[in-house]
Amino acid sequence: MTIAQHEPAPYAETTDPVYAARAAETFTLRKAGPDLLVLSGPCPRCAAPLEVPLPHMVFRGLDGILSLFRPSQPRPASDVRDEPVVCACEEHHPDRPEGRKGCGAYWMLRISSSDA
Ligand SMILES: [Zn+2]
Ligand SMILES: [Zn+2]
Repeated sequence: MTIAQHEPAPYAETTDPVYAARAAETFTLRKAGPDLLVLSGPCPRCAAPLEVPLPHMVFRGLDGILSLFRPSQPRPASDVRDEPVVCACEEHHPDRPEGRKGCGAYWMLRISSSDA
């Protein structure tokens, strides 16, 4: 199997446990405004840098950490949520429907507050 050089992957609405695992390792959470947290990191499928604003999310503390999403794990009682993330890169992907962004990859990021 050879890896195509820098051909962009065709648009495909797809998810894979690997996406969540990789994103949990590479994404960071930062404060971008008084009530705005932003997730940022590379798309695990197409590697485009992504910024995912989470305006509806409030933490008690700002030292939020991202922990790995494991579907088999029971959901902890509090201060943990699974945030759906969809790639919204601006780069070109073949076969992308008109008006869409991204490469089609989506995954869940489990986000927990470290002061829980
Ligand atoms: Zn992309
Ligand atoms: Zn992507």
